[in-house]
Amino acid sequence: MNREEAAKKIEYLKDELNQYNYEYHVLDNPTVPDHIYDEKLHELIGLEEQFPDLLTEDSPSQRVGGEPLDKFVKVDHEVPMLSLGNAFGEDDLRDFDRRIREQVNNYRYVCELKIDGLAISLTYENGKFVRGATRGDGKTGEDITNNLKTIKSIPLKIKEEETIEVRGEAYMPKRSFLALNEAREQEGLEVFANPRNAAAGSLRQLDPKIAAKRNLSMFVYSVGKWEAGSIGSHSERLEYLNKLGFKTNPETRTFEDIEDVIKYTEEWTLKRSELDYEIDGIVIKVDSIDQQEELGFTAKSPRWAIAYKFPAEEAVTKLHDIELSV
Ligand code: NAD
Repeated sequence: MNREEAAKKIEYLKDELNQYNYEYHVLDNPTVPDHIYDEKLHELIGLEEQFPDLLTEDSPSQRVGGEPLDKFVKVDHEVPMLSLGNAFGEDDLRDFDRRIREQVNNYRYVCELKIDGLAISLTYENGKFVRGATRGDGKTGEDITNNLKTIKSIPLKIKEEETIEVRGEAYMPKRSFLALNEAREQEGLEVFANPRNAAAGSLRQLDPKIAAKRNLSMFVYSVGKWEAGSIGSHSERLEYLNKLGFKTNPETRTFEDIEDVIKYTEEWTLKRSELDYEIDGIVIKVDSIDQQEELGFTAKSPRWAIAYKFPAEEAVTKLHDIELSV
């Protein structure tokens, strides 16, 4: 493709992706499946890498999430809430590992299920829950404290008088999602496209009674702003968050070798349907906080973490059939 053709294609993909982002993040109502969005974003990133002078700051490849809705009070995130770089197969994971190895020694990885919900920040002052917000565009989110207070797995008071901001994923369990859509269908209302959109739609309502009825839950997976924080590894931070009273995911594992990470991603590609919540991949993070700092960030995501995305369901069924037939 020559430069002129690439420029045209880039503009086309940007418009298309901006529209998909708006439908997904602002309206909570996607019109295409995630893998189509991911493929188009991947194509855009590839073209921008090939023609770096065509990369603009407003490109969807440089942006996190969507604009916060005006109906909520806005919350500024002192520590930005970023997105994650994506890996679509073992080669991408080995490339990620090579980039890490070029910069740090003696590292290990924490592997977590990538919960398909919405990223939330929870702030505690002297142990009390004072504010909860959506990620929004990463810099500014929406204050949804009252809705989050209806989620029973979010403690209103934690076990230490800590001032700490924690982050995680609010989600709707599959069972609640099916029951909700069934009830909506009977009432003649529009059904939600998937549990992620149902969770987002429930939390972005002004009336907390709606969220209260929706049976949502939340896994906490990291720390945002924490001035007094002295725990030097992500895995120990997760243990501490659990001790404070947060729900952390029990399937998290640590590995030193990228080949073991790949095995973990393969295992969950086949096992994901057994869970009572949706996951869309595996998040791999360098465990040491010092090494995370050394590796740093790009404009949109940390260099010390990556999200492995599961293949689309049809491809998994094929893989499963092959496994069963050998
Ligand atoms: P992302 O989904 O690739 O990854 C970042 C997010 O992962 C975090 O913000 C957090 O919310 C989540 N996450 C879940 N578990 C985590 C864990 N254990 N540790 C850290 N983070 C964890 O990026 P994104 O910017 O949130 O959005 C892109 C996603 O939205 C993609 O899945 C994409 O397919 C989808 N999308 C779809 C459409 C559509 O029209 N279908 C449009 C836009 C975006």
